[in-house]
Amino acid sequence: MNDSSIGVDAEPASAPVTVLAGPTAVGKGTVSAAIRARYPEIWLSVSATTRAPRPGEVDGVHYRFVSEEEFSSLVENGQMLEWAVVHGRNKYGTPRGPVEQKVAEGRPVLLEIDLAGARQVRDSLPEAQFVFLSPPDWDTLVDRLVGRGTEEAEERERRLATARVELAAEDEFDVTIVNDTVDRAADELARLLGVRDLT
Ligand code: 5GP
Repeated sequence: MNDSSIGVDAEPASAPVTVLAGPTAVGKGTVSAAIRARYPEIWLSVSATTRAPRPGEVDGVHYRFVSEEEFSSLVENGQMLEWAVVHGRNKYGTPRGPVEQKVAEGRPVLLEIDLAGARQVRDSLPEAQFVFLSPPDWDTLVDRLVGRGTEEAEERERRLATARVELAAEDEFDVTIVNDTVDRAADELARLLGVRDLT
């Protein structure tokens, strides 16, 4: 018998899929980017979206940029684990196949999605781990939203209204990570995925 198979020193088993959600402008994308840079062993799901690429975004890396028709066909063929219309505008969804493949390979999998998507994953993958990214306080969230300066006033108000509703959803999640500094939040998230700090 091989003693190493007894597993007395084994790390606690981590959930195969972790969902990161949180309010608008809390910095989910920035924390995900830090995870991508610092923890290559974590597999970040590449969402499909109907929105146009922003400068610097690479198809197949940050998103899979698809047409409305392509998106509809992915949904109709049952190839989306979840999907949602975000900010009443564009569609975003998590392709199911790659997630299942990485889980089968035993890779820690991270989905960075909106709240509506997180709720769908809770229905289809209840064993997943649900992490809520919260701002240190409301004013910081407003500063981040306004400071970004990419939205018109009306759009900003709409996003703030969404953020208020989304903040109230914290109780639905297993764990909250406060996004005080990006690297610290990313390290805490990596630990929740069973991956140790670089430091
Ligand atoms: P952005 O367009 O700024 O990259 O993302 C806008 C929002 O879409 C973010 O809140 C992000 O979490 C959400 N999002 C990105 N990918 C997905 C996805 O696959 N499914 C869902 N439901 N939301 C997503």
